[in-house]
Amino acid sequence: MIGLMQNQPLLISTILEHAHRWHGTQRVVGYTTEGDLSEVIFAQIAKRAASLANSVLSHGMKLGSSAGIIAMNNHRHLELWYGLSGVGAIAHSINPRLTPEQVAYVINDAGDEMLFIDTPFIPLVAAILQHTPKVKRVVILTDDSKMTESIPFPAVSYESYIAGHSDTIEWPMFDEQSANAICHTSGTTGRPKGVRYSHRSNVLHALAVSAKDVLGVGALDCVLPMVPMFHANGWGMPYGCLAHGAALVFPGFKMDGPSLLDLVLEQGVTVALGVPTICSVLLEEASKRGSGLGKLEKVAIAGSAAPPKMIEEFAGYGVEVIHAWGMTETSPIGTANADTPQTAFLPKEDKAKIRALQGRPVFGVDLKIVDESGHELPRDGVSVGRLFVRGAWVIQRYHGQDSDCVDAEGWFDTGDIASISEEGFLFLTDRAKDLIKSGGEWISSVELENIASSHPQIAAVAAIGIAHPQWDERPLLIVVPSQPETPLRKGDVINFIASKVARISVPDDVIFVKELPLGATGKVQKTKLRSQYKGYFGV
Ligand code: ADP
Repeated sequence: MIGLMQNQPLLISTILEHAHRWHGTQRVVGYTTEGDLSEVIFAQIAKRAASLANSVLSHGMKLGSSAGIIAMNNHRHLELWYGLSGVGAIAHSINPRLTPEQVAYVINDAGDEMLFIDTPFIPLVAAILQHTPKVKRVVILTDDSKMTESIPFPAVSYESYIAGHSDTIEWPMFDEQSANAICHTSGTTGRPKGVRYSHRSNVLHALAVSAKDVLGVGALDCVLPMVPMFHANGWGMPYGCLAHGAALVFPGFKMDGPSLLDLVLEQGVTVALGVPTICSVLLEEASKRGSGLGKLEKVAIAGSAAPPKMIEEFAGYGVEVIHAWGMTETSPIGTANADTPQTAFLPKEDKAKIRALQGRPVFGVDLKIVDESGHELPRDGVSVGRLFVRGAWVIQRYHGQDSDCVDAEGWFDTGDIASISEEGFLFLTDRAKDLIKSGGEWISSVELENIASSHPQIAAVAAIGIAHPQWDERPLLIVVPSQPETPLRKGDVINFIASKVARISVPDDVIFVKELPLGATGKVQKTKLRSQYKGYFGV
């Protein structure tokens, strides 16, 4: 016997319609490419997305057509997500920090027929357009008055592209399993791979990511995604905020500390999201200015491990860190760290240790860790194994592949190594590729980094495994000192770590550098460091 309820497909257009009808006056504030602060309301976003949708339909885009977007977080980017997906086309946000070859590769991989780009990316597109034969049209995300720069390929401005097209539309109904967006992995560990989301997966994810023990956003919130929309689906907030009526603040190209802090203070940001590197930029500026963090209540940190020192620093400003884990392949939310009845009243120090873990699975996602022969390991906080995940917004198959990337029960191998505590808290020991193999034992690079980064004179750090004549690999620590005027000695760093880890884990050497190489999403590029220091221990 089937239920007798309405079968309303979970389409992205339903989020936009809700935002328009019930939160129409909510704000989307942000820096334009020219650096001015602009403000539009959800009702305008909805109307402009409708004009865009009518325009792309008139230019032959249809269900399943794909459009590439090379843009920072701004309101036009948001309109594109809704306008394209609304008519069943695919919004493919592209990371401009990929190499030009990779950008061309992902455009061809997605089969993009159009490109929508911010003005500063004109040279990038000019360099690759000859290698992307399917692209028929380029639209520059600006108005005609700013199309002054000589553009070495045929292009129109976004404002002229949507002008004259009706700002109302009857959003079409189609199967909720249809694709609405593609995001490529950032290629931290290899060639970017396309993850093709569905309307259903993204609508469900929008609900999940906004739940109380995750980001818990509502109509009184003002959300600053410091994570770009091209990184893992913008962590779902461009959908979650419109679904729940929360204001959005977009930094555009102004991802520097002063601009981010200005936005936080002047716009009354209550929730921010970002990888640790960008969060440290915000913290540094707040400490330099002595300003505090205004109304900020929560910061979601993911992408790489949030160092305990960072969690503490935010707490010093009264800001709660929601340490979360996810991947492009999981839309991205997998776990988030919130108190449970067992942890809420623990002494401060015990609680701090738990808050540094990656948290517990959100409803809709299941996790397990397995040993080398694939057997599930106990959730005891000690057993360490490969992390598998499955759920309603977890990948089934990569775009362009003809076989699934999950096993018969839907489990996806994350490539991460983790333990899970009795209370269900995930602790990510490492990426399998970053673990350091020393004399048959595994050393966690994350553990070394967490400890080293709690040293008051260390601003940033990476631990990498380097081939060793006797031990397979040994850890080498690459350190960015925080106070170059006060010299930090290798011995100080080694002793600091040696007092906190097993002997085998103590790094063999420390190298001081001015900065670490960051990849396209702000993560430390360990692959680059490993090749730079190859042979350091003599083999
Ligand atoms: P890429 O794989 O190209 O770096 P993603 O952003 O999708 O792109 O990366 C997902 C990976 O980031 C995860 O598999 C995990 O290794 C790492 N990660 C995500 N969140 C955390 C976290 N809170 N702590 C440690 N690592 C994390």
